[in-house]
Amino acid sequence: MFQKILIANRGEIALRVLRACKELGIQTVVVHSTADADAMHVRLADESVCIGPPPSRDSYLNIHQIVAACEITGADAVHPGYGFLSENAKFADILAAHNITFIGPSGDHIRVMGDKIEAKRTAKRLGIPVVPGSDGAVTEEKEARRIAAEIGYPVIIKASAGGGGRGMKVAHTETDLEIALQTARSEAGAAFGDDAVYIEKYLEKPRHIEVQVFGDGFGHGVHFGERDCSLQRRHQKVWEEANSPALNAEERSRIGGICAKAIADLGYSGAGTIEFLYENGEFYFIEMNTRLQVEHPVTEAITGIDLVHEQIRVASGGGLSVRQEDIKFNGHAIECRINAEDPRTFTPSPGTITHFHTPGGLGIRVDSGVYSGYKIPPYYDSLIGKLIVHGRNRVECMMRLRRALDEFVVDGIKTTLPLFRDLVGNADIANGDYDIHWLEKYLAKGE
Ligand code: ADP
Repeated sequence: MFQKILIANRGEIALRVLRACKELGIQTVVVHSTADADAMHVRLADESVCIGPPPSRDSYLNIHQIVAACEITGADAVHPGYGFLSENAKFADILAAHNITFIGPSGDHIRVMGDKIEAKRTAKRLGIPVVPGSDGAVTEEKEARRIAAEIGYPVIIKASAGGGGRGMKVAHTETDLEIALQTARSEAGAAFGDDAVYIEKYLEKPRHIEVQVFGDGFGHGVHFGERDCSLQRRHQKVWEEANSPALNAEERSRIGGICAKAIADLGYSGAGTIEFLYENGEFYFIEMNTRLQVEHPVTEAITGIDLVHEQIRVASGGGLSVRQEDIKFNGHAIECRINAEDPRTFTPSPGTITHFHTPGGLGIRVDSGVYSGYKIPPYYDSLIGKLIVHGRNRVECMMRLRRALDEFVVDGIKTTLPLFRDLVGNADIANGDYDIHWLEKYLAKGE
């Protein structure tokens, strides 16, 4: 087991990882920018190292500074959290070259899954169902027309190097196709420095369902069930559930089994998430994330397993603490992402939190790094906390969520709490009846 883990992140996830390390009796080092000197994870860590000024590129993305912090403090492993360097293959390689363990998969696995065309090819080869579309990059308009006619309109043009929903264009007819292809390529070139694009069938009303997987480092793969993250705004997840209200036990175990086998065949090590669009009983792979996800606590709630403990165990060579048959799904969990944003316009609202009171009671978990008097710096993303609620079934979970939202107080800044108070009373949400476009339509109606 590791002696000392360096946490290369900030905010709620840095605190989340710190808690796991403390439970396992592992010493902790955190790195932080000058803007985060007062952050909770910095206060609670055994050691902290300031690695630079506020902009992420000079601090949380500064590989040299982070490696130097490991060497100064004698950390033998790094947990990257999510975002920042968590899916940076070069970072994983550099740590390996310095004999520091990256708590995550190999640089090569990160690389394969980071290129969306390569990821889709790999998924297909591993027997994972994919969205019908081009076999690789498409450059010629003639070829694009042929593929689109073959799979049928509407189609979506996506950037191979894409991320964050950028560089995607939908074409409903052959006339749209030419312009969609050109815009997607120029947007991809400008945003990612790589203008390779590919074509997929555009699914009209899918749900976003993702499977939590783990490779144990010894060639075995397991799945921890799925999460439904269909409630999104601008491709950003807002509300996540486990299990998905749309799947039955047979579908869950079928798609979970396919994913676990793929992870084993790939020789993957650590946590990963295989993301699908789901429509009319069919799953279509869209991408794989090679890290811990923001929404991992809903899986922890229904399985009772600490996924960060498992990540640390696997990275240290100790394997998983559970086998597939030990992983049981118990009840229902929902997570709300609480952002420091205006609940209607979603404009960021940094500033000082004058009062912060979190709900409690059975089945309630709040993961947050903020506190009364904390000043939210304007430099980073606006997530200030996550409310995770667990119940014996979805009805109980929703009742508890409504009560917890009523108890939650954040004064001094605007937050997205009022949005969740509206959603929890909505009939479609109560019925679990929503797709990936539901929230955007709901928000458009309210304006
Ligand atoms: P990114 O990496 O940019 O987030 P993804 O491939 O994960 O891109 O897709 C992001 C979102 O775009 C999906 O969650 C879904 O809302 C939409 N999307 C992607 N592919 C399709 C498709 N074939 N049909 C319909 N919507 C899609």
